[in-house]
Amino acid sequence: MTPGQRLRELAIRHAAFAWLDRQRAAGKETFSQEDTSGLTLAGETIRLMPTQQGIWKPGQLDAALSIRTVYRPEGTDRPYADAVGVDGFYRYKMRGDDPNHYQNRALRAALAERVPLIWWLGVQGGGYSALYPIYLVNEEQADLQFVVDIEAVPQPDIVWPSTELKLDPSYRQQLTKLRLHQRPFRAAVLRAYQTACAVCSFRHSDLLDAAHIHEDGAGGLPVVTNGLTLCKMHHAAFDRRILGITPGFEVRINAEVLKEIDGPMLRHGIQDFHGKQLMVLPQRRSERPDRDLLETRYQAFLDAS
Ligand SMILES: [Zn+2]
Repeated sequence: MTPGQRLRELAIRHAAFAWLDRQRAAGKETFSQEDTSGLTLAGETIRLMPTQQGIWKPGQLDAALSIRTVYRPEGTDRPYADAVGVDGFYRYKMRGDDPNHYQNRALRAALAERVPLIWWLGVQGGGYSALYPIYLVNEEQADLQFVVDIEAVPQPDIVWPSTELKLDPSYRQQLTKLRLHQRPFRAAVLRAYQTACAVCSFRHSDLLDAAHIHEDGAGGLPVVTNGLTLCKMHHAAFDRRILGITPGFEVRINAEVLKEIDGPMLRHGIQDFHGKQLMVLPQRRSERPDRDLLETRYQAFLDAS
C-alpha cells in the first residue's frame, strides 16, 4: 500500500468513526443498511455496512472497512461465546474456504496495515450496533480465521456488572464476551423502551442505561426480557437495592429510605415512585421483563431491606 493510499484509508475510517460518534451522541444505537449508505466522508461517497456477505471493502479502499455478525437468539448458536479464545481474542471466520478470496485478502490488508475497522453486531429485533475501532491482530490460516482485538473500543456507555466475574478459565475471555454483548444489548433494550427510563420516563439517551435484571456477571442473558431501560439514578438505586420492581411491574422503595428526609431529588426522584407502576414498558408483550427474573431480583431487594 502506498503512503498516499494509507492516508486515504485512515482519513475515511476516522471520518466514519466521527460520523458514528455523532449519531450515537444523538441517541441512535441501532443502524440499518439504509442509514449507513450514501454517506459523504472525507470527500468520498461511501457505504459503511456490507449488504450480502459479512465482510465489506468499499471500492475506494484496499483494506476491509467493516465486518458483520447477524443476531442469533442466545442459546441457539451463541455467536460470541464459542469464538472467544482463552486469550480473550475473538476469532472471525474467513469467507468460504479459500484464504485468498478477495474479501479475505481485504481483511489481510487491514491486518497488515493495522488500520481500524467497524464491527456491526446484530441487535435483537433488527438492525446493527457498531463496535469501533477494532483491529485484526493475527491470522490463523489453518483454521480459516482472523484474530480480532476489541480492546481499543472506547465504551463509556457500557455498564459493568456489579457482581464479581469468575476468574476461570480466563478473565480476559469473559471481559471480551461481555463487551461484545453489551452494545447490541443496550441498543435492543433502549429501542424496546423507546429510549426512556422505565421508572420515570426520562429521555436523555446519554443518561440512560440498559440494566440487567439477572446480572450478566452472574449468568444473566443479554436479551431484552432480561433488560430494563433505566436512567443513571434509577439504575444505581436498583443495583443498590434502594429501588425494587415487583413481578407486577410496580416500583417499591426501601422502607428506611422512604423515611429519610432530604431535598427534592430524594423526594421526587425516589420516594414518590413508591407504589407506582412502571411508566414505560415495551409495546410488544414478548419484550416485557421476564416475571420470574423480576421475582428473583425482587426477593433480593426484600432480603436487603
Ligand atoms: Zn429514571
